[in-house]
Amino acid sequence: MVDKFTKEKRSEVMSRIRGKNTRIEILVRKWLFSLGFRYRVFDKRYPGRPDIVIPKYRTVIFVHGCFWHAHENCKYFKIPLTNIEYWSEKLQRNKFRDEKNVRILESMGWRVIIVWECELKSDPSSRLTKLVCEIVECDYEES
Ligand SMILES: [Zn+2]
Repeated sequence: MVDKFTKEKRSEVMSRIRGKNTRIEILVRKWLFSLGFRYRVFDKRYPGRPDIVIPKYRTVIFVHGCFWHAHENCKYFKIPLTNIEYWSEKLQRNKFRDEKNVRILESMGWRVIIVWECELKSDPSSRLTKLVCEIVECDYEES
């Protein structure tokens, strides 16, 4: 079979399928790293394998794709018109699982921050600035 993707493209596609190391996650990680935050990624010890764990601030961050995580009232979250039942069930399940993981993590004393794909698409710098404030608990004025 002829591989129609370049090696780079293929690994991007595969990472999307696995739902790991997507471009938006990498964007958030690079930003935090550049500011001196040190973190762990996909740590299996925590429910939901958070994308980013910052032990120093007892904070976990999930970078959620709006479709897979059923971001309500979001333009990127549209249930496909074919197999509607299958998709709505599957995506609801994802959502419930996410909510459960957040509850467990919070009960373990972690602060949980969710960064949505659409927030990063529309205005990455303000979302990332706000994120840092959420981590270090500074005042942030929503503009
Ligand atoms: Zn969204």
